[in-house]
Amino acid sequence: MSRIQLLPDLLINQIAAGEVVERPASALKELLENSVDAGASDITVHLAQGGVKQLRVVDNGGGIGRDELALALARHATSKIGTLEDLERVASLGFRGEALASIAAVARITLLSRTPDERHAWQVEAESGSLSEAQPAALGAGTSIEVRDLYYNTPARRKFLKTEATEFAHCDEIFRRVALSRPDIGFTLQHNGRVQRHLPASADTAARIGAVLGDEFAQSGILFDEQSGDLRMWGMAGSPTYSRGSRDAQYVYVNGRFVRDKLLAHAIREAYRDVLHHERHPAFALFLEIDPLGVDVNVHPTKIEVRFRDSRAVHQFVFHALNKALAGGQDSGVVGAVRTNELPHTAHSTSTERSYIHPTYSAPTQSRMAFGAAQPLAFYDTLFGQEVSAAREAMPQAGQEIPPLGFAIAQLHGVYVLAQNEHGLVVVDMHAAHERIVYERLKTALDSHTLAMQPLLIPVTFQADALDVATVEEHADALRELGFEMAPLSPTALAVRAVPAMLKDADAAQLARDVLKDMREVGASRLLTERRNELLATLACHGAVRANRRLALPEMNALLRDMEATERSGQCNHGRPTWFQFSMAELDKFFMRGK
Ligand code: ADP
Ligand code: MG
Repeated sequence: MSRIQLLPDLLINQIAAGEVVERPASALKELLENSVDAGASDITVHLAQGGVKQLRVVDNGGGIGRDELALALARHATSKIGTLEDLERVASLGFRGEALASIAAVARITLLSRTPDERHAWQVEAESGSLSEAQPAALGAGTSIEVRDLYYNTPARRKFLKTEATEFAHCDEIFRRVALSRPDIGFTLQHNGRVQRHLPASADTAARIGAVLGDEFAQSGILFDEQSGDLRMWGMAGSPTYSRGSRDAQYVYVNGRFVRDKLLAHAIREAYRDVLHHERHPAFALFLEIDPLGVDVNVHPTKIEVRFRDSRAVHQFVFHALNKALAGGQDSGVVGAVRTNELPHTAHSTSTERSYIHPTYSAPTQSRMAFGAAQPLAFYDTLFGQEVSAAREAMPQAGQEIPPLGFAIAQLHGVYVLAQNEHGLVVVDMHAAHERIVYERLKTALDSHTLAMQPLLIPVTFQADALDVATVEEHADALRELGFEMAPLSPTALAVRAVPAMLKDADAAQLARDVLKDMREVGASRLLTERRNELLATLACHGAVRANRRLALPEMNALLRDMEATERSGQCNHGRPTWFQFSMAELDKFFMRGK
């Protein structure tokens, strides 16, 4: 065994850089956040060769004094917090004091800065852990940080950099994220000497959203601002009739910080669920504001994840606020029980309706109570992916013992399955219950490496951006492990050739988009490990039968039997209940019987 020894600073910083500076875009994120924290009203980004050769951010913020230039580049040195209490209430984007030190460990840096009370700027150069003496330099008040030759001294990492176009696409995405959150700051992006984006500062949020996400979205989007207690959410929600093209135009911020959060994503999906055809992808830019004490932002080195103290309250608020905005300002009632079929949507009649709607399926009629006995049994197969014979057995037989969840008697408003069991009435949330079943099956299959792939007869193609195409090229193996086979068709299009067999009836493009989105946000390896179950939950949600799908009695019974056989089927993946029992005694009480 080797002896235990302390690592040299440079190596420590290089190790930390592995987490914080994954690629040029992650360095850009740190630099932009520093400029925002410094109170800049104007920020310009210059990139050369996708940011690999050069990445320079110039701001007109508060600057760094001559004496502090070296500290700024030192590890664990920050001007933003000083105590644990500060950390718990942190309002700045940065606070860990490790970004510049990490970047300096894997690239060459030139840092120029000038505070308002200095007569000229000072400049330092950093390379391989050593820092030059400060030299006088010319710069207006503010800071300019130039990062050159990323990973010049760590060839193993340099190998992982992609093409210039891909790295630029990542940088552009980071730029958009930051620009979207701060309309009051002017932003300019140049690549290889050409201006790619120029966004003048403006008090008009909608104008900034239009400039970043496109005018079409901004014009059809619903601007809203909701507050409840110390929670506030504002922003723009894409109207249900706006279908976005290729981009994942989904931006969520918590206290100005772009985050990826499953809880928020779920609340948003739920709010959209009833108004949006599930094939469409809602576009939105949502800004949640919450007392910093109520949210932990120090969960992940890049701070992309957060943890809410009262996650339930946050979920309810976000769902409610968005639901209200989408319903045109009318609060639609009880949280979690909103299934307004009357909302002005064209969900079930668009021409984009796809093959997994079975040909024999007809849209729900005016009659809300659907007794489905006349439905063909073959339909069952398209829903639950099981043998038709199993469905027949799911019908009650004479003399048969009543199973725990009973036998189905009807479907209510396309949402609930009603069943009769020994104790009385069972009410099942059809989507939630099926979601749980699909989820458990996916998990079991993935665990036992028996996740079957279903090749698609006709590959499903969809528009994708450069990042998605790059993800497919980089992570074909990981995708295969999850049951997907995808291939680039062009720089802006992808084909899905196979999906997990269990999800063969779901929208393949939507599934693929979700997997790619998660993969590029959290990385392939984390997606297969710690974030796996969350991904499976998302997939299960898409794979599960939707509200308003008319079920035949055998299908309902099959669902009930599947629920009985599935672990934890009493809860959906999001912790909501999937069914309720109303006993005869309870029902009798309603009617004051037997008193
Ligand atoms: P953190 O942002 O977590 O504090 P960084 O390593 O990113 O850590 O930056 C270290 C310090 O350098 C910051 O706390 C800040 O004082 C200073 N700094 C960095 N960039 C700028 C900038 N653009 N303008 C003013 N000060 C800056
Ligand atoms: Mg920082």
